[in-house]
Amino acid sequence: MSEPVLRVRVYASDFMSGEDEKEDIRYVFHCPGCGYGHWFKTGGTKRPKWEFNDDLYRPTVRPSILVNAQATHLGPNGRCHSFITDGRIQFLMDCWHDLRGMTVDLPELEEEDCW
Ligand SMILES: [Zn+2]
Repeated sequence: MSEPVLRVRVYASDFMSGEDEKEDIRYVFHCPGCGYGHWFKTGGTKRPKWEFNDDLYRPTVRPSILVNAQATHLGPNGRCHSFITDGRIQFLMDCWHDLRGMTVDLPELEEEDCW
C-alpha cells in the first residue's frame, strides 16, 4: 500500500465538556459500503472508544464500529456495522448496503477525501 487508509483528525469542539474531550482525536476511514467517511476514537473519557494498533496502513480496531441513523444521514434503516482487521473491513449482516456479509480492503485515501 502506498497511501494510508486512515486519516487523523483533531476536533476541538467547544460544546464538548471535559478537558480531554477538547482534544478529541478521531481516525477517519472511507467506508466502501456507504461511500463516505466513518470515524472512531481511542481517547477521551466518553464512550464509545476503541482499541487500535496505531497502524494507519493496516489498522486493526476493536470492538466493532456501528454507525446508525441517528449519527448520520443514512436514512431510517441506515445501519452500517463492521470490524476492521489488518487493513480490511468486514461488514456484518445488519448493514443497510450491498456489502453486508462481505470483507473487502479499506480504500487508500486520496487528498480529495477531506471529510
Ligand atoms: Zn459504512
